[in-house]
Amino acid sequence: LCNTSINEGEAKILVNDTNVFYNPVQEFNRDLSVAVLTTYIKDDSTEALKPDGITVLEALSATGLRSIRYAKEVQGIKQIVTNDICATAVESIKKNIQHNEVEHIVKPSHEDATLLMYQRRRDKFNVIDLDPYGCPTIFLDGAVQCVSDGGLLMITATDMAILVGNFPETCYLKYGAIPLRSKACHEMALRILLQNIASHAGRYGRYIVPMLSISADFYIRVFVKMFTSQLKCKENTTKIGMVYQCTGCETINTQPLCYKKPSGGYKLTSLPYVDQLCKICNHKHHEGGPIWLGPLHDQHFVSQLLCNLGEMKLVTLKRIEGVLNVIHEELDVPLYYTLDRLMSIIRCITPPMLIFRSALINAGYRVSYSHACKTSIKTDAPNEVIWDIVRAW
Ligand code: SAM
Repeated sequence: LCNTSINEGEAKILVNDTNVFYNPVQEFNRDLSVAVLTTYIKDDSTEALKPDGITVLEALSATGLRSIRYAKEVQGIKQIVTNDICATAVESIKKNIQHNEVEHIVKPSHEDATLLMYQRRRDKFNVIDLDPYGCPTIFLDGAVQCVSDGGLLMITATDMAILVGNFPETCYLKYGAIPLRSKACHEMALRILLQNIASHAGRYGRYIVPMLSISADFYIRVFVKMFTSQLKCKENTTKIGMVYQCTGCETINTQPLCYKKPSGGYKLTSLPYVDQLCKICNHKHHEGGPIWLGPLHDQHFVSQLLCNLGEMKLVTLKRIEGVLNVIHEELDVPLYYTLDRLMSIIRCITPPMLIFRSALINAGYRVSYSHACKTSIKTDAPNEVIWDIVRAW
């Protein structure tokens, strides 16, 4: 077989076997991961973890490209274990490690990712990267046990058809949540995945703090820190909840599973919203979830990430900057509407976005876009106010 050499970032990858997966479209995903990892390591609180450099597991590696890029482009990594279950892939990983002269950092591994993560439960990694074909959830029980306290999980899901609601029963089986067919489906996909990671973590008294959650092209990718605390785990149950979409006007409401009692402790929500009729148009609701209702991003982390981009040479830098700037402005409000859909429900012509946004601001509310949808309206205005503005148009 003849070798084709592919350059991406500072890595030179030999691809000579069509059985080994290499997807050039994912360069944005890998560039972003290089930037996130750099920022994570530079962060003061992370440095305290391992002064001599951090450890990384790329559990599903294919060619080794990602690991080699981390080794060459990110400062402060002591060791990367680069794993794949497929023997041909591991051969390719070994060849590429040699070709890039990163033997001192990158170690090949031929193992079932789950088994490897269970074996390393007592010798945890600081960072675990999961980039599977499709759904990542079968790897999560291992991953949440194998990442250190304050460690980082970087997780991709590419099974968007399932996450956006085309096969709700499959989504329930894989992610333990019912998706809704909604204009906000891409953000809902992120929140379904985060809910699932949080649920796996909770079983071991661990909780997640999302640093960055991105919907791009045909996949989603989340970056979450992991910590251990029974108390915080309970607190995180207030950040998980159900989502209700009106069958008439598509108005969205969310309801956390638990509330914190003023006297201390937590109380389960006793009056499910699904039993109520929509306050806008009196129709019934579709019920979806549970989804993550907490923040999708740590805005301090996003600022640091944007600062660090200046020093990086990444092919997709402009696109990363563009997406991160939108994310930096994103309101911490679950889900969103789209202007075209709101107007088409009442069969009216869509006004310019600027005018609609100004109306919300003039009414005293905040408004932003979501990076997941160009025509999105994310706002803290109550549904009644949004509909008053739509009807007044
Ligand atoms: N991360 C790679 C990149 O950025 O180029 C792409 C990884 S590819 C989408 C998924 C890989 O996971 C395949 O090479 C496949 O052999 C491997 N894989 C699937 N199931 C696995 C398992 N249980 N353990 C380890 N590797 C597995």
